[in-house]
Amino acid sequence: MLTGQTFLVTGGTRGIGKATVTALIEAGANVGFTYQSNKEAADELCSMLGEKGRILAIHADVQDFSQAKLTIEKVKDRFKQLHGVIINAGITKDKSFYLMNEEDWDATMQVNLKGTFNYARAAIYDFMKQKYGRIVCVSSVSGMKGIPGQANYSTTKAGQIGFVKTLAKEVSRYGITVNAVAPGYIETDMWRTIPDNHKEKIRQEIPLGRVGEPSEVADAICFLLKSSYITGSVITVDGGLHV
Ligand code: NAP
Repeated sequence: MLTGQTFLVTGGTRGIGKATVTALIEAGANVGFTYQSNKEAADELCSMLGEKGRILAIHADVQDFSQAKLTIEKVKDRFKQLHGVIINAGITKDKSFYLMNEEDWDATMQVNLKGTFNYARAAIYDFMKQKYGRIVCVSSVSGMKGIPGQANYSTTKAGQIGFVKTLAKEVSRYGITVNAVAPGYIETDMWRTIPDNHKEKIRQEIPLGRVGEPSEVADAICFLLKSSYITGSVITVDGGLHV
């Protein structure tokens, strides 16, 4: 059902974004993806999957609205139409709140929340005109339960959940669905920044007893892209961590 459709994934070079790009290509879709710093990883992904001619890497900083608009134009130029956007690019700047500085706060808001505005806003008119669109935000369990050290990050991830609920109501009459996935701990570079002694403690808190794979989040994203009767929802992909 995703065959022949076109999707844009922000932050496609690593982790969950890369797994989503891979899953979409394997499902027969056309995929544009953005990268910020890692051109080598972007080129590598294109040559790994690109022989199918259905993949396009675009250099863009998600914080910049004009770049978001340009990114969407490039995807439409190449593949004619855009069916969905996966707002995945995100950063953490974890610190106890009393040590958190303005830069830690602002950078997280800019990438995670302003990036969400930028890509949803840049795509929404096309989706309204064509009376079809899928928006999936990659939020986090951190937006649903308190995780010490993540006051800035939790704020952005809870913000994305509020955002999908409101936007879902605004645009449902145009055939557009807006949803989020909320991963728990997933084996990506973000997970690798956590100190080893802390990782063991985290594993013990996860009912399924292990960290998730990026492909397990990509599966939930693809499910939401295919779904026609789910909107304003959040699917947790967290081994039961939020319970
Ligand atoms: P990751 O491995 O750290 O990769 C982050 C991706 O975002 C990279 O492709 C990076 O591009 C891109 N990116 C970062 N800042 C950007 C910017 N300013 N402009 C454009 N692209 C930017 O991340 P991940 O762990 O897969 O996380 C993906 C999403 O899942 C994030 O929203 C995160 O909050 C969420 N999440 C992750 C976990 C987890 O445990 N990993 C759990 C819950 C939620 P470059 O490589 O080019 O820099």
